Order: sequence, then C-alpha cells, then structure tokens
Amino acid sequence: MTISRILTLKIRQILGFLPALQLVWRSCPGWTLARITIVVLQGTLPLLSFYLTKLVVDSIAASFTLADKTAAFRQITILLGWAGVVMLIITLCSALSDLVNTAQSQRVTDYMQSILQAKSIAVDLEYYENPQYHDTLQRAQQEAAYRPNQILNRLVQVAQNGIALFAITGLLLSLYWWFAILLFLAAVPVLLVRLKYARLMYGWQRKRTPMERRAAYFSWLLTSDLSAKEIRLFDLGPLFMQRFQHLRQQLYQERLSLASRRAIANLGAQAITGLAMFAAYGFMLYQAIQGTFTLGDLALYHQAFQRGRSALQGGVSNLSGLYEDNLFLVNLYEFLDLKPKITDPATIEPVPQPMTTGIMFEQVSFQYPATAREALKAINLTINPGEIVAFVGENGSGKTTLIKLLCRLYDPTAGRITLDGVDLRQFQVAALRRTFSVIFQDYMKYPFTAQENIWFGNIDLPPTADHISKAAFRSGADQVIKSLPQGYDTTLGKLFEQGEELSIGQWQKIALARAFLRHSQVIVLDEPTSAMDPKAEYEVFKKFRQLIEGQTAILISHRLSTVKMADCIYVMANGAIVERGTHDELIQQGGTYAHLFETQAKRYR
Ligand code: ADP
Repeated sequence: MTISRILTLKIRQILGFLPALQLVWRSCPGWTLARITIVVLQGTLPLLSFYLTKLVVDSIAASFTLADKTAAFRQITILLGWAGVVMLIITLCSALSDLVNTAQSQRVTDYMQSILQAKSIAVDLEYYENPQYHDTLQRAQQEAAYRPNQILNRLVQVAQNGIALFAITGLLLSLYWWFAILLFLAAVPVLLVRLKYARLMYGWQRKRTPMERRAAYFSWLLTSDLSAKEIRLFDLGPLFMQRFQHLRQQLYQERLSLASRRAIANLGAQAITGLAMFAAYGFMLYQAIQGTFTLGDLALYHQAFQRGRSALQGGVSNLSGLYEDNLFLVNLYEFLDLKPKITDPATIEPVPQPMTTGIMFEQVSFQYPATAREALKAINLTINPGEIVAFVGENGSGKTTLIKLLCRLYDPTAGRITLDGVDLRQFQVAALRRTFSVIFQDYMKYPFTAQENIWFGNIDLPPTADHISKAAFRSGADQVIKSLPQGYDTTLGKLFEQGEELSIGQWQKIALARAFLRHSQVIVLDEPTSAMDPKAEYEVFKKFRQLIEGQTAILISHRLSTVKMADCIYVMANGAIVERGTHDELIQQGGTYAHLFETQAKRYR
C-alpha cells in the first residue's frame, strides 16, 4: 500500500464521524443547535465562575489591610453579584439541557430508524435470505439508535474539555511549565488502554453478532404469538429457554472476561495518573505554605488543577469514545452502503398497457444465491394476454420461483423474460410490479381492519371506496366481513385491541380480495384457496373467468379440479416443464397429470 493510500484511509477513519454528524444535523437542526449552545455554555461558564471566586478571595484578603471597609465590601458584593449571574445561567442551562436532550435524542433516533427502514425496503429480497445481511442489519440497528448523537456529544465535550484544558494549561505554564506537561503525560497510559480495549470490544462484538441474533431469536420464539401454540403442545418452552440461557451465558462470560481485563488495565493506568497528580498537588500545597502563593492563587490553582484533572480525564474518555464510535459506525455505514441489484435501467421502456403479445420465458434458468442446484432449468413458455394458465407439480418443483422471477424479485441467471417482446429488465421496477397482483402462499395477515387488509392491494384507490366491497364480494370475503362485529372496520387478528381472529380459509378470502382490488393486467395466485372449504373454493373457480374480468391469470394449485378450466396447464418437475396442454389434452396424454388427476378424483368420489 502506498503512503498516500494509507494516509487517505487514516484520514477517512479519523473523519468517519462526519457523515454521522450530518445525519444528526439533518434530523433536527434547531434542537441540535440548542444542544450545542448549552453544552458550550456548560463548558465555559464554570471557568468564569472559578475566576470570579479568585477575585472574591483576593478582594477579601486585600480588604484586611484596607481602611475603607465599605468600599471593599461594595466591590466584593458586585463580584458576588456577577458570580450569582453566572451561577444562574449554569442552573438554567442544566434545567434546559434535560428538555433539549430528550427532544433532540428522540428526533435523531426516529430519523435514523426511518433511514434504516428506507434502506430495508430498497434492498433486494435476496438479502433477506442471507444470514450476513441480518447480521449487518442487526449491527446497524444497534448502532443507529445512539451512536450519531453520542458522537455529537463527545465532540462537543472534547471541545469543552479542550477549551478548559487550554485555559488551564496557560495558567499552569505561567506557574511551572512542567506542571502542564505532567498533566498531559499522566493521561497517556489511560488513553492507550482505552483505545486498545475499544478495538478489542469492537472485534469481539462483530464476531459475536450471529450468536446474539440466535439468542434474540430464541427470545422471540418464546414470546411470539406465532410460536405460542407449538411451544405449548410440544412443550418446547423449557428447551428453548435453556438454549437461550446457554447462548447468553457464553456471551456473558466472554464479555465479562474482556471487561475484567479492561478494568485491570484501566486501574493500572489510572494509578499512574493519580500518583503524578498527587505529587504535583503536594508540591503546590508546599508552595502555599512557603508563602509563594496568595490565598486567592491557591484557591484558583486548586480549582484549576481539579478542573484540569477532570477535563483531561473527560478528554481522554471522549477521545477514546470517539475512536470507538468511529469503529462502530462502520456497522451503520456498511448497512447504508448496501446496493440493490434489481434496479431501474438507464433508459426506461414504458410497460405496455395493455400488453398485446403477452409474457414469454425464453430459456430461463435460475439458481438461488449460495445454492448448488438450479431451481429452474431452461424454461420456455408463452402466456397470451387474457389467458388463464396453471402450474402444477410437486413441492419444490419451481412454481413459486417462476413467479418470483416474473415480478423481478430475482433476475434469471440465464435466459430472459419478456413482456410484449421487451426484457423485464428494461422496465421501471415499480411500474413492472404494478402490472402484477400476486398473492403468495405465505401472504400477510395484517392485524389492521378488514377494510385496510383489502385496501393494501391498491393503495392508489381511496381507502373507503366501494371498490373494496366489490373486491370482497368477488372473493367471498364479504360474507366473512358481514359476520364481524364492526364489519369492515373490525380489526383482524389478536395482536391489537378488540381484534377478531379469522380461520385460515377466511384469511385467504381476504387475501384474495386484496388481489382482486388491484386491477393489474396479470393476477397471480399461488395456492390461493388451499384452506377454503370445497364449497367456497368451488364458488371462486366456477366463475373465475368472470371474476378476473379479462385479466391474465396465473394459478398455482395442488388441487387439479381447480385448474381444470385453465387455457394451458404446465406440469413442473425438478425445475423443468414436463407436460403442457389443456386439461383434456393432458388427460389424453395419460402422463403425470392424468395420473395425478385420477388419484385426486378418486379421493373425492
Ligand atoms: P414450489 O413452488 O414448486 O413448491 P419453489 O419454487 O418454492 O417450489 O422452490 C423450488 C426450489 O428452489 C426448491 O428446491 C427450493 O428448495 C429452492 N428454493 C426456494 N426458495 C429458495 C430460496 N429462497 N433460497 C434457496 N433455495 C430456494
């Protein structure tokens, strides 16, 4: 590495806190300014107060020899008055600082949260399937809440201590120059110890993120409503608690060992500082007894020395703290630097509305990141506008993956998918996604009102429109909602007050209504009716063509009776299409589909 490169890196490391300060400033300039003002006043006013004390003491000492006691008293009173004013401002500052700190801290924390949230929705789905992403996110979340603000505080305090130290150094230099040098030298061991352990702590914390996350997961398992049933029925509670405690115990021991070593090293360093300080202090007292100092001088030097000591201690702790903050900020920047791979192209093609030639998969293959197997292998197919196509096949045969590629949650590893002949990668991502209305098997059950649960399908519509009840009617959700105590305004699920839990089949009807509300060109339903009762499912598919009102539809289903009416049925196995055709054609072929259909039909006979 060249010297200039090393220098650049070092400078970047040292100035690493600048972006953090920018974040703080952007979150609330007013409060931040107020906070800085208060801290600066808090740093400088005590010095003024010391100086006034010296003047008072000197005046008293001088007054012993003065004949005009009244004039001396007047002068002392004026000085006291000034000391009072200074005290008052100091008190005011400390009263206000609480208010300002509370307001500013919350502002910064909320702002940081919003930045992390924005990044979380901007990154690709792929990141969520990557443990390292979750480590990065966890570390960023830990740091974002307080580091930027802490850096601001520390910088202001470093400045505060710096001002104090500057004044005190000047004072001490005027007395005995080696006093000042001693003061600084004595602080060096403490600084070195702190820097070293900040580095060690940072390294340890990074290494242990996966373990912390695992422990947090057990804690979540033990307290979540999603796991509550199984935990009780399989009696998993004690086991999970034990695993949680085991992990925490290990973390505790490692942290304690590191903290103990730090404490011992710190103690040694502090002892050196303390000894040096006391030697200097003893020397000063000796000088006072010898009469080299006035009483006022002694009061001033005494306070100056005390303040110098605490300013230096504070300075050391803030400087090493800044160093630590800088190290940990890397965690935050690392997260904020994540770049989505699925992005808009430089020149955007408009999404055809309506599409005329349809969707084509051309030799599409796909392999999930960090896996060895292809989930899709050279898929070729065409979906014409207005067609209903169905995908059937065993679990893991690649049906859902195909849909994920279609709405660009992932891009193919080979081949291309086109819409009216244009590669999907040439459209704006958001515009392309508006073309689809997808309900996956693991659709969301939002613990909000029934109305909102449907409205989330198309938030461009006003939330109160009768479109919502129309969509609910189409999916059969209207019957479910009618039976709820507050109808559309009933909160669903049991997470919030007065929520009404639905059965899985009922939730599916709500999710289906969400898909119907969207009015996109293509509707994609991945096992949408698997939990509905046969009658409800029959109702949906009996008039499906009419329900989708000319939309192109892609269905994934295990129940072959529900896909019978599709214009084309694709049978998938191991990531490839093994049969294709209409129901009748496939039955005639007498292959996998015919065999599966026969087996299922027998069950219902
Ligand atoms: P289907 O919908 O037909 O049940 P999927 O498309 O979900 O099947 O899965 C196809 C294959 O891809 C399976 O072998 C599955 O293990 C794998 N797979 C699915 N999702 C992921 C993922 N996020 N990461 C890695 N592999 C995955």
